[in-house]
Amino acid sequence: MTKETRNVLVTGANRGIGRAISESFAKEGYSIIGTSTTAEGAKRIMSTLGNISSKVVGLQLDFSNPESIEVFINKLVDEQKRVDILVNNAGITRDNLTLRMSKKEWLDVIDINLNSVFHITKTCLKGMIKNRWGRIINISSVIGSVGNSGQSNYAASKSGVDGFSRALAQEMGSRNITVNSVAPGFIETDMTQKLVDSQKKAILKMIPLQRLGTSSEVSEVVKFLASDVASYITGEIIHVNGGMFMK
Ligand code: NAP
Repeated sequence: MTKETRNVLVTGANRGIGRAISESFAKEGYSIIGTSTTAEGAKRIMSTLGNISSKVVGLQLDFSNPESIEVFINKLVDEQKRVDILVNNAGITRDNLTLRMSKKEWLDVIDINLNSVFHITKTCLKGMIKNRWGRIINISSVIGSVGNSGQSNYAASKSGVDGFSRALAQEMGSRNITVNSVAPGFIETDMTQKLVDSQKKAILKMIPLQRLGTSSEVSEVVKFLASDVASYITGEIIHVNGGMFMK
């Protein structure tokens, strides 16, 4: 199978890191299925990536809505959309100190960042097993490794994603399916736009490279893990964080 015949599914492809990941795969000739929570976002994926490649489909998927997950999964199965490379990227933050955190803030983050990864991965695994080839790349976060005050929900979800990657890598090794996490540090996207100046200043002090990262600095690592040259890497967490956490 060449990369031109491989299909990539990227969740949360409309903005930020997911968009950069989809763009970099599209430029290489892969076929892309990208998701957004809204119909407009799904259309935007097709129009923006459509300038790079003709092999792009944008679909609506909202992990906070069980019906939307079911419709999406049925569509993948019914239309026999084979997924060779799965990038579980969609994610949110709902920051609060644990003592003040509502049950909703906790559950929303666990549902969208962690439970989503289980639902979509399980759906895509059957095809990968049949083809005896697959790549699963989960976007976690440095916060899953180091924690962060005010983000216990987010840290738990991302540690969960890393644990899931390692366990699944062990289950799927014999099927020639690799499973890895990419753990970005602070990257310039809508997610980090929410940070106030004092938070940004404090963060920059922790980063040896003294700047936030860019989405393309993450997407290039994802593309590498999906490629044939990364065929012996599985169960890893690859950190892309400007040195703020050194293992
Ligand atoms: P972003 O710019 O806020 O984009 C988030 C993406 O997730 C959007 O495409 C959004 O879809 C999708 N999404 C949000 N809620 C969803 C839901 N309920 N169901 C399905 N999709 C949903 O975020 P980002 O910075 O690119 O983050 C991408 C991933 O990287 C996340 O998993 C995040 O945790 C991780 N990460 C980011 C950073 C950072 O500094 N930016 C650092 C470490 C890890 P719509 O466009 O339709 O809203």
